[in-house]
Amino acid sequence: RLTTSIGISLYPNDSTDLDALIRDADQAMYQAKLSGRNQYQFFDLFFHEQGGDLPIKRQEIKQALLDKQLTLYYQPKLNMKTGQVFGAEALLRWIHPEKGMIPPLDFLPLIESTDLEILIGGWVINEALSQMDIWLSQGLELEVSVNISSFHLLSPAFFDQLNDALDKHPSVDSRNLQLEILESSVLGDINIVSGIVKSCQNVLGVKVALDDFGTGYSSLSHLRNLPANTIKIDQTFIRDMLDDADDLALVESIISLAKTFNREIIAEGVENAEHGVLLMRLGCDCAQGFGISRPMPADEMMGWVLDYKPDESWSVWAGSEWELSNFPLVVAQSDHMKWVEDILNVLDGKQGLEQGVLCSPTECRLGHWYYAHGQKYYGHLDAFRKLETIHISLHQLGRQIIQQYNAGKKNEAAQMAEELLNLKSKVLDTLNELQRQVLFSQTSLA
Ligand code: C2E
Ligand code: CA
Ligand code: CA
Repeated sequence: RLTTSIGISLYPNDSTDLDALIRDADQAMYQAKLSGRNQYQFFDLFFHEQGGDLPIKRQEIKQALLDKQLTLYYQPKLNMKTGQVFGAEALLRWIHPEKGMIPPLDFLPLIESTDLEILIGGWVINEALSQMDIWLSQGLELEVSVNISSFHLLSPAFFDQLNDALDKHPSVDSRNLQLEILESSVLGDINIVSGIVKSCQNVLGVKVALDDFGTGYSSLSHLRNLPANTIKIDQTFIRDMLDDADDLALVESIISLAKTFNREIIAEGVENAEHGVLLMRLGCDCAQGFGISRPMPADEMMGWVLDYKPDESWSVWAGSEWELSNFPLVVAQSDHMKWVEDILNVLDGKQGLEQGVLCSPTECRLGHWYYAHGQKYYGHLDAFRKLETIHISLHQLGRQIIQQYNAGKKNEAAQMAEELLNLKSKVLDTLNELQRQVLFSQTSLA
C-alpha cells in the first residue's frame, strides 16, 4: 500500500523557467510531506507560508548539527507492574538559538532520503551510546532506543557505521541498544530490511523494535518474516482505547499477536493511570508516555529515576498474573462507559437515541457478560454480586432520564444525569474491586 505526496508548480505563474518550475514543485512536495503526507500542495502556498528555500533550510539543519544545536531528549520506558524504569527512547530536538526548541517532525521531513539524514542518524546513534556510557558510570543501566529512518537503515554503510559506533563504546552492552524502525517503512523491502535486521541482531547483538505498530500493514507474514524483538503499539490506539471499543479490540489483538510470536510488547502514548491499568489488564506491562514522563534532557534522567513513584493504582498488579481469559471483563467495562456516554449524548442533543440503547439490564452487553461469562468465572466473588443491583438501578435511571427528556423536561433530565454519573462511577469502582478480587484469588491459587 503506497501513499503519494505531490508538489505542484504552475506555468507561467510560478516561473517560466523549466528548472525553476521543477525545483518549485520539489519544494512543494516537501511541504506536502511536512503536512502529513498523502496529499498535494501548490508551490505558492509553501512559499508564502514557510518562506525560504529547501537547499537553504537543509544547509541550516546541517549547520545546526555542526554547531551542536541538535540534542537528544529521553523518555523513560517503564515496567508498570514491577515499577522498574528499564529504558528510555532517544528523541531528537533542535535547540535553535532564536526559535527555541524545534520538534523533530518540523525538520526531519526536509532532509528525508538525503545524505544529511544519514549523517544526523549516525550522530544520533553515537550520541545515544555516549550517553549510555555516562549513565553506566553513574550506575544507571538502561536499554536505550533510537529511531532509525528507513533510508538510513537501507544505506550501504549502515551496518559498518553501527559496528564502529559500538566499538567506540566497549563498556556499553550492545543488547541495551535498540533500533526503532517504523512498521510502515519495512513494507516495500521486507526481505532487504529483514536481512539487515538479522545481521544487526546476530552479529552486533543490538535489539530491534517495530515502531508505530498497527498503523502499517501489520500482516501476519510480516511479523513472521521480520525478527523484531519488540512490538511497539502506536499511540493513537492507546489514546482511543478507553472510549473506542474497536481500538480496544485492536490493542488486545496486537498484544496476543506479540505473545503468539514471542515478541516483547510496549505501548506508547500512555497519558494517564487508566491507560496503564487497562494495558496491564490486556497483558501489556511495559509502557511509555506523558502519564509516566515527558521526554527530558539527558542530565535530568538520573534524578528522575531515583524520585519516580509509579501510580498507586498500578501497584495492585505487582507480582500478580492476570490471564487474558479475563478480557471479557475489560470489554464489559468499556461497553458500560460507552452506554452511559450514549445516554448523555442524547441529552446534549449530539445524537438521537439509537435503537436498542434502552434495553433491559440483561440485554445490554454488560448484562450479556454478567449473566454468562461473568457468572461462570466470578459468580463466587462478593464484588460480582454487588454489581447486579447497581447495574439494574443504572438501567432504570437511564430509562427515566430519556422519558423526562422526551417529555420536554430537559432540566430534570440533566439533574438526573448527575446521578447517572454517580452510578457509573459505582459500577466502575465495583468492577475494579472485582478485578482486585480476581487477582487476589489467582495469586492465592498459584
Ligand atoms: P515516535 O518515534 O513515535 O516518538 C514518540 C513521539 O510521541 C515523540 O514525539 C514523543 O514526545 C511523543 N509522545 C510520547 N508520549 C506521548 C504521550 O503520552 N502523548 C502524546 N501525545 N505524545 C507522546 P517527538 O519527540 O516529537 O517525535 C516525533 C517523531 O519524530 C518520533 O515519533 C520519530 O518518528 C521522529 N524522531 C524523533 N527523533 C528521531 C531521530 O532521532 N531519528 C529519526 N529518524 N526520527 C526521529
Ligand atoms: Ca519511536
Ligand atoms: Ca511511535
